Amino acid sequence: TLMCGDFGYTGKQIANDLVFQGLESLEYRGYDSWGIAVNDKQHIQVFKTVGEITGREELKKLPLANTAIGHTRWATHGGVTTNNAHPHSSENKFFTLVQNGIVENYSELKKSLEQKGYTFKTQTDTEVIVKLIENEQKIKKPFKACITKAFRLLKGRNTIVILTKDNDVYAIRNGSPLVIGKSKDGIFLASDALSFSPYTNKVILLDDYDFIHISNGKIEITNILSKKKKDVKTHILKNKYVDINKGKYAHYMLKEIVEQQNTIINATQYSKKELKPIIEDIKKAHRVYIVGAGTAGFAAGQIAYFLRNISGVDAQDVKSYEFKSYVNILSSKDLVIAVSQSGETADTIEVLEIAKGKKCKIASIVNMLGTTISRMSNHQYFTNAGPEICVASTKVFTAQ
Ligand code: GLU
Repeated sequence: TLMCGDFGYTGKQIANDLVFQGLESLEYRGYDSWGIAVNDKQHIQVFKTVGEITGREELKKLPLANTAIGHTRWATHGGVTTNNAHPHSSENKFFTLVQNGIVENYSELKKSLEQKGYTFKTQTDTEVIVKLIENEQKIKKPFKACITKAFRLLKGRNTIVILTKDNDVYAIRNGSPLVIGKSKDGIFLASDALSFSPYTNKVILLDDYDFIHISNGKIEITNILSKKKKDVKTHILKNKYVDINKGKYAHYMLKEIVEQQNTIINATQYSKKELKPIIEDIKKAHRVYIVGAGTAGFAAGQIAYFLRNISGVDAQDVKSYEFKSYVNILSSKDLVIAVSQSGETADTIEVLEIAKGKKCKIASIVNMLGTTISRMSNHQYFTNAGPEICVASTKVFTAQ
């Protein structure tokens, strides 16, 4: 699965440090390089580099700005170089862009752009998106239309965030997660709500193909498939442990192992009334599939074991990436329970898309609130273990 991250801020505060710290808290998602673009209302300036996210001298040289976007990259196209790191700026200097994902048809698109006379400076698929937008800009139309026209040409799952010279932020979510946070004096845009949780727990949840335009503190969201404007509704996220500091512990794994004395209790705080809907559906189900990938896949195995051996339920755990071999025998009478820490596991989302197609009931056990997997589910349950920064799962596994 692809992880990496985006983080942006626009508002009354100085964005430089906010975005830098935001990238630090997205570190757990894995990355090989990173970058920041700021807009000081005169022009866009970019700093990018390979390796660890540290307070580099060059960052201090960036002008203080109220709007900035940042990116942690996990290279898929082109080596891990400063040049290939994001953001990538347009030649017309009007905008700069970050991307999470893969442009699957990038070589065809690149060839046709080269035929039009564009020369590429990086090996990334990202630069193709930049050039496609620039190409649309040649024919006078609103910038929003340039982005959507270019975006429609892309194959694959791609989430993009764009900062313009006019100090506007645009984004499209598709595949990789993206969530908006609203604080008293500004707007955040990030891959997870955890990264801006020190500043706000008021969030706007996004769906795939949502087009976001932030201008002068105003947020507009249009879904580019339905072409409908969306109500900008805010939700309050109640996360119990948002403490993402290592504290007295030598490393996160140790901290998270010790936290289990609370997190196991937290995970079991559901009342009988809250559990009733899932119990009813388990009883009614022809068969119960429990799906997950990685460590969550092992938790799924445990859940299936308990359901079979304690409750006598026909329960089967399946690794998300092997689920296709069950599609033939999957029916609308089956219940699918998805287990995921992030709530964004791509393989597991694919299973749920199949299950939805077959009209199965869906339940999920997720650690991160407001994420895709829980929003796809009829029954949403949360492990409430708080952020798990260490890549090796401990407290979330036991909570699942
Ligand atoms: N495909 C892009 C690249 O290789 C983005 C990868 C990412 O999601 O970080 O630069």
